[in-house]
Amino acid sequence: MTAIQRKKELMKIRDVWEARQRISPLIKRTPVIQSSILSEKIGRNVYLKLENVHEVGAFKVRGAANKILSLSEEERKRGVATYSTGNHGMAVAYVAKKLGINAVVCISNRVPKAKVDSLKRLDAHIEIVGDSQDAAGVRCYELERERGLTVIEPFDDPYVIAGQGTIGLELLEDIPNLSDVIVPLSGGGLLSGIGLAVKSNDPGIRVTGVSMEKSAVMYESLKAGKPVVLPESETLADSLLGGIGLDNQYTFPMVRKYMDEVVLIPEEEIAFGMAFMMDKHRMMMEGAAATGIAAILGNKILHQEGDVAVIISGQNVDLSIVHSVIEKYLSIHK
Ligand SMILES: *Cc1c(COP(=O)(O)O)cnc(C)c1O
Repeated sequence: MTAIQRKKELMKIRDVWEARQRISPLIKRTPVIQSSILSEKIGRNVYLKLENVHEVGAFKVRGAANKILSLSEEERKRGVATYSTGNHGMAVAYVAKKLGINAVVCISNRVPKAKVDSLKRLDAHIEIVGDSQDAAGVRCYELERERGLTVIEPFDDPYVIAGQGTIGLELLEDIPNLSDVIVPLSGGGLLSGIGLAVKSNDPGIRVTGVSMEKSAVMYESLKAGKPVVLPESETLADSLLGGIGLDNQYTFPMVRKYMDEVVLIPEEEIAFGMAFMMDKHRMMMEGAAATGIAAILGNKILHQEGDVAVIISGQNVDLSIVHSVIEKYLSIHK
């Protein structure tokens, strides 16, 4: 029995160590680099944790790998299911393929073909159901009941949280004077895991969550004192969209416990962050990851001492979006 099953209501740092051991054969440690240009901007050492270098281009393989590797032989034989078409869906399909496990991705008929094609390249079985994300979710749980597939939750699962938390362990090893971590925030699996890992080592390390200004569900939920539902809006940080679940079990209380500060970023600043990183760093990242860069560039981190780590959470962005972001940037900065 693992530590998580023993004590379900409370995650421990040991869960993150177990995750690290479990995923290490499958998931490579990612580099940390110092950004001299960002360091000069704010007069502190700024480090970038490059979670964009995973084969699927985002950190979500860590959580997906920890969850899938923790399944029993029986469960693995029956297979896994997800209804995410974003980075989580890709991560589940990728890990399942590596382990020779059957993965079903339930999607609505509105999901763009490019996304369906990349899921198919990872050998995922696609089930098209209805015309909404909700219908896809319902179908996913039907598959669980009917065929015994295990639904892999995108964030509100202790194994997923512990998997994302392995990033925190790597930060502690690579940045001795770490005092701030800037974490893109949506459902809160990433922030919960990193918060658990770094604060168990040093409660003085500050954790700042960053979201887009529009449809920041975790932020509004914390304000309301309970999970709330918001309509989704157009945003460059599309990976940060989505609810936190009205019966959220883990990430809502964990974000409340571990997050010191939350910063909301307007769309223009997300765009500027993306363009700045391409221009000055020759690095491409998706809008979700650029929220952390925007928080640094806009000097929105309240605390002012010690080393800062920014989690570059992913790089999956359409070239058409990159194109329009760059075009706008050049029209202003030439
Ligand atoms: C999922 C995701 C996030 C947010 O992670 P949560 O655990 O949902 O808070 C941030 N950035 C990228 C690129 C993501 O795919």
